[in-house]
Amino acid sequence: MHWESRHERAPAVTVLAVGAYTVDFYIFGDRLPSVGETVAATGTASAHGGKAANVAVAAARLGGRARFIGAVGGDQEGAEALATLTRDGVDVSACPRTDPPTARSFICLDSRGQQYIMTWAGAADGLTADVAAAGAALLRPGAVLVLQGEIPVAVSAAAAAAAVPGVTVVLNPSPVEPFTQPRSDPDAARLLARADLVVLNAAECRRLIGERAGSTPSGLSAEAAQLRRQIRTATVVVTVGAQGALVIREGSEMHVPAPEVKVVDTTGAGDGFVGALAAGIAAGMPLAEAVLLACRAAAVSVTRQFCIPSYPRASELSHAPL
Ligand code: ADP
Repeated sequence: MHWESRHERAPAVTVLAVGAYTVDFYIFGDRLPSVGETVAATGTASAHGGKAANVAVAAARLGGRARFIGAVGGDQEGAEALATLTRDGVDVSACPRTDPPTARSFICLDSRGQQYIMTWAGAADGLTADVAAAGAALLRPGAVLVLQGEIPVAVSAAAAAAAVPGVTVVLNPSPVEPFTQPRSDPDAARLLARADLVVLNAAECRRLIGERAGSTPSGLSAEAAQLRRQIRTATVVVTVGAQGALVIREGSEMHVPAPEVKVVDTTGAGDGFVGALAAGIAAGMPLAEAVLLACRAAAVSVTRQFCIPSYPRASELSHAPL
């Protein structure tokens, strides 16, 4: 393939995000509706999104040589997606264009920054296991491969299997549904087994262990440790919103608090966290330092609206609250 030979000569990619790009359609209101209720909105907007695209931009802004591999439509949104990511320095040369339109998310956001999100995969499901695996196979030891749950698990599993030893595989099992039955899904089991680091929020942790978890860091830590044993992953990082993140490893547990900030929009905070974490690991930081970087970057992102526009550059972090 053309892109492979071009990339052998380009600077080595340090963060590869394989997954989805979506157009995010927002509708704002003073409060979220309950089921069956209609609430008058105060405004609408659209923005670039999708977990893997978010991760790639968040990592690129913090110095990672980032690449995104995901399918976008042959429509105008697909062209705009590739142009936007390229402007941020993200390599999109392996992104297929497909007939189905570019993926879309519909986000209801209230004045306190709380949201409901529904997402439609569209073109994103057109990424094949072969293309994903070919991209992952080009990564060198020391690089980071980031995978989520927005594309078929078999495609992510193929990418993870193609990564050479020494590539850190970060799995953010979000949406969590494809990972809830690993015993009956060999792809999910394979992917969880190859992941060096599983990063997920408290609700996702709760879903994966199939139990109620506590809502405080201390209440969650036992459940996170249970999850780590259950999925046999070296390290589990649980993000706990304004409380920061928990890092659970064999015999050790660490709580990294989040800086206190005025929240505007928490959409995509987790993706910003994962992108910054990947950039930190790819830069050779010890995990604790990379998690601290991720907490600082994600805290800045929640003070701004939307996903991609909210992710900070390294220069902005030096002014950010600690
Ligand atoms: P998700 O976005 O997946 O729901 P979280 O809500 O746990 O995940 O947020 C991810 C990360 O974003 C947190 O670990 C934290 O670092 C940061 N974050 C989220 N909300 C806040 C907040 N109110 N104040 C500071 N940081 C926040």
